[in-house]
Amino acid sequence: MKRTEIIAVGSELLLGEITNTNARYLSEQLSKYGLSVLYHVVVGDNGERLKATFEQAQARSELVIVTGGLGPTADDITKTTLADMLGRPLIRDEASLETIRRFVASRGRTMNDGDARQADVLTGAEVLDNPVGLAPGMWIEGETTWLLLPGVPWEMKAIVEATFPNKFTGATILSESLRFYEIGESALDAAVADLMTGSNPTVAPYAESGEARLRISAWAETESEARQMIDRVKQDILDRVGQYYFGSNEDTLATRLIQALQARKATLSLAESLTGGQAQAMVTAVPGASSVFMGGVVTYSDELKNRFLGVSLDTIESHSVVSKEVAFEMILGLIRQTGTDYGLAFTGEAGPTSSSGQPVGKVFIGIRSPAGIDVIERNYPHQERHVIQARATKDGMWALLQRMKKGE
Ligand code: ATP
Ligand code: MG
Repeated sequence: MKRTEIIAVGSELLLGEITNTNARYLSEQLSKYGLSVLYHVVVGDNGERLKATFEQAQARSELVIVTGGLGPTADDITKTTLADMLGRPLIRDEASLETIRRFVASRGRTMNDGDARQADVLTGAEVLDNPVGLAPGMWIEGETTWLLLPGVPWEMKAIVEATFPNKFTGATILSESLRFYEIGESALDAAVADLMTGSNPTVAPYAESGEARLRISAWAETESEARQMIDRVKQDILDRVGQYYFGSNEDTLATRLIQALQARKATLSLAESLTGGQAQAMVTAVPGASSVFMGGVVTYSDELKNRFLGVSLDTIESHSVVSKEVAFEMILGLIRQTGTDYGLAFTGEAGPTSSSGQPVGKVFIGIRSPAGIDVIERNYPHQERHVIQARATKDGMWALLQRMKKGE
């Protein structure tokens, strides 16, 4: 596993005129071969700074890939600078010269000095044919190995595609993101701290609103070997915090909920107040939701809670619309109307000011499962409106998943 560095040469990059897409492409390709890129460096077309950059790379990296500055113009100083530093004077490569001569002739020109200089390579370098341009690439093997590539993206790619598979073993890198709910980021970190110091596989945390993720990456000679390495660490993690795990990679609470319902051939309906339809939007965003989701209502006003769900206006009056009692009557009324196996009913205070008399962030979720009906309370104090709505929606789905896990 070589310590790898990518150096992009060109003042246009520093000026913001072009984006360093070459570095991104190279990093992407290198990861396929299990090489860890430790530095991206950008340096302008300046002899002194280029030399200092090369010296720094030589001191800290085992593989250095340089793009740009191989061309014929005065600002193309990559080759001369490296040649001086390594004590490998430039010599003219006859095969490259011939290619250039033919190319130039095909354009009806004769070769000039600039054209010919593109055939100059460092002494001892392996010359990498450029099938779509003039300046060849170079591979200079040593304690630090140098790979020089043209700056023009398609020329660079053409050489990379021809070179990498021969130079690097076919290591593969695989990743899996484990997604957790209800466990705080710091609690998750603490539970798996010892695994995060490993270098292969690596385990790294990511946080999202209300969710936490651990990304496991492994590289190995073969894909199945990498898969096995990931699975071992994954099992270790699930042994510790499996009760908070809901899925991997692209899985969401909604996709898992739909899958769990499909597995049970069970149906779902939803009644929403503070979430305003978000829960139904999340569920219907999942392809195939129609096989389990019957539908639902958004009953924002007291009046429609009463008319559509049969919530008693007295209950609202005496307990507030944001109450356990109202959530209970909402889910009861919903299931009476829809007859689904599972259901959720949301009522809460999303803020920013309270209209129900309840504190902002207080939420009640009525839950129906084949085991019966109950209501959970959640509080998200000091949160913004959209966060309260999103957390309530996810908490409801999570609560249903939990019940299904327990066989309810
Ligand atoms: P040329 O023979 O064309 O001079 P070169 O190897 O000297 O090639 P540069 O002169 O550095 O390469 O760059 C040529 C062009 O390639 C730039 O004008 C730019 O459009 C593109 N380029 C160079 N470096 C990068 C980079 N890091 N990312 C994306 N594009 C780049
Ligand atoms: Mg150039």
